[in-house]
Amino acid sequence: KSTHHFIVIGNPIAHSKSPEIHQVFAAQTGCDIRYERQYCPNNAESFTAVVEAFFHGGGMGANVTVPFKQVAYAACLARGGISEHASVAGAVNTLLLNKEKLQQGASLTDALYGDNTDGQGLVNHITSLGWQLEGARVAIIGAGGAARGAILPLIEAGIGQLTLANRTMSKATDLVSELSAASATIHQHDIKSCATTELTGQFDVIINATSIGLSGETLPLADDLNCHFAYDMMYGRELPFLQHFAARGAQTSDGYGMLIGQAALSFERWTGHVIDVAQATTILKKQSG
Ligand code: NDP
Repeated sequence: KSTHHFIVIGNPIAHSKSPEIHQVFAAQTGCDIRYERQYCPNNAESFTAVVEAFFHGGGMGANVTVPFKQVAYAACLARGGISEHASVAGAVNTLLLNKEKLQQGASLTDALYGDNTDGQGLVNHITSLGWQLEGARVAIIGAGGAARGAILPLIEAGIGQLTLANRTMSKATDLVSELSAASATIHQHDIKSCATTELTGQFDVIINATSIGLSGETLPLADDLNCHFAYDMMYGRELPFLQHFAARGAQTSDGYGMLIGQAALSFERWTGHVIDVAQATTILKKQSG
């Protein structure tokens, strides 16, 4: 049986956990894979050259991480195509070749297809923890790339009221307008926006999609803001956002399962095998001690 070749492209890339995650998926599904970290200089030309060389060399699929997700989106838009989730997110985290286009005689470059599995990975993780998103009152804090990619998958999962809060309120308001114009599904949903300090009341789920944990600062949260379940997209460190809500009696989760969830969906797109994410997560948690 042949070895399938995959890469994750980023800069920096040494810290990426994707190779270990995908090796666990490969073992689970009996696939023979090689999955490598691929450093790339931080410019669009280098990115395109790396991607083309990889697929010309027989590569089956690639993940894209910081800072190339928007570059990958532009490359796919100009060539083969993008999924609706990638289109609304304005970002691509999964690259593959469109087999139909190849069969119709398209060049490898013209068959390049981009998807985004981050937001669906989040939704799958939350539901796997037993939380019902149908009708749920949800707040997202943050209006960057991660928040943007989560909105359509959450709405498709059937959430009720959605509020988008951000330090810079105008960015939240602008994002809601932009996404409403880009997607009929989002347009039909009444999304409120506000400044993070003005986010108040009771929610079922509050999701931290800011990068604040990296700076050591804490979010200024209103005293009468409460939730049943607090989710932080970050992982691998103490998360003050989760501690805040745990102290108020909420259940909490970090974003490690989102990372595994998005990877599982990429693997499924590439190979057609469905991943048992819970089993893979147990193995990965054991491996990392
Ligand atoms: P962006 O840089 O695009 O967005 C950053 C957001 O954080 C903005 O809304 C910004 O607010 C806010 N922010 C940054 N610093 C502060 C601060 N000091 N106080 C308040 N708000 C702040 O980042 P991304 O959207 O790409 O990523 C956000 C997080 O999600 C990261 O931590 C990333 O690691 C995580 N992530 C996790 C994934 C997973 O698989 N678990 C996948 C993708 C992302 P403002 O607009 O006011 O500047």
